[in-house]
Amino acid sequence: MRGSKKQVMVGGVAVGGGAPVSVQSMLSIPANDVGGNVAQAEELAAAGCDILRVAIPDMESIRLIDAIKRKIQIPLVADIHFDHRLALESVAAGADKIRINPGNIGGGDKVRQVADTCRKHGVPIRVGVNSGSLEKDILKKHGGPVPQALAESALRHVRLLEGFDFGDIVLSLKSSDVAGTVAACRLIAAGCDYPLHIGVTESGTPRMGILKSAIGIGSLLLDGIGDTLRVSLTAPPAEEIAAGRDILKAVGMGRGPTVISCPTCGRCKIDLAALARRTEEALAGIDAPITVAVMGCAVNGPGEAAHADLGVACGDGCGIIFAGGKVIRKVGYDEILPALIAQAATFRNSPPAEGLARL
Ligand code: SF4
Repeated sequence: MRGSKKQVMVGGVAVGGGAPVSVQSMLSIPANDVGGNVAQAEELAAAGCDILRVAIPDMESIRLIDAIKRKIQIPLVADIHFDHRLALESVAAGADKIRINPGNIGGGDKVRQVADTCRKHGVPIRVGVNSGSLEKDILKKHGGPVPQALAESALRHVRLLEGFDFGDIVLSLKSSDVAGTVAACRLIAAGCDYPLHIGVTESGTPRMGILKSAIGIGSLLLDGIGDTLRVSLTAPPAEEIAAGRDILKAVGMGRGPTVISCPTCGRCKIDLAALARRTEEALAGIDAPITVAVMGCAVNGPGEAAHADLGVACGDGCGIIFAGGKVIRKVGYDEILPALIAQAATFRNSPPAEGLARL
């Protein structure tokens, strides 16, 4: 089975136990701006965010939870550091999950209070271990934030919660180093059954950040590791959602079409780049996980187009449309996109006119 053996419920979203991998992001508006946070939460929910996290740095920020939950249907996670009372108040305010490290909130009775409150409300806890904030004794023992150090820290926090009979746990082990993140997640996945939230932390600005995240998250997903993910970018959080969804698509776990298109060469006689881009845009509203091949000539075109769910092998100002491995018809260049959209409509929800309206 892919992913963890255990499953937890974050509001109405199942995480682990074979549930679809969910995509998360985090609000980036200052915590004292309630209206701004609510507006960004609505934007992210509309962009396909499955689970949303909000920083709760102080008691005043608790009001964000109710304000946001009144406007969105997706689960809301309260991100807490150091002060266990923020966790207790966040649960009381309706948070669907708490991200907190039990070892950082000041000892046994405080951990017990958080565990008891979360258990009573059916709220899971994410233990989020980060290479930048490991315990001093663990860093000393391992000589730095190596994968073994991340795993030991995560297990320490988990044991604290388990000591209070709390097992509704999601784990994350993140480093800004791709190889370190992957190794730490592999270590912990081999040693425990809790669902894993995966991601490369502080991965940077979009170009490198998406590459690092795709390699780290993608490697783990292909290993069968990971139940929920966040692409962590120095960019508007809607870009994190788009990147997360694309990573899922790239490893065959996503929804919506995947466009396969060739790099073109001297044999290509049409503007394939424009055709591929317009095809991607026009099919964006389709949920079916279909592959659509947009190919430049007769060398690899017919083969790829025939293997995809639908496709086109282009010629000089024309294209041969394939669907289900068979040639459907030959059309002129201007008719290629409408023909692909019409064929795509047979796989899904929205009628061809909807796609055409976006052209
Ligand atoms: Fe070149 Fe044709 Fe291959 Fe595209 S499919 S790269 S045009 S040979």
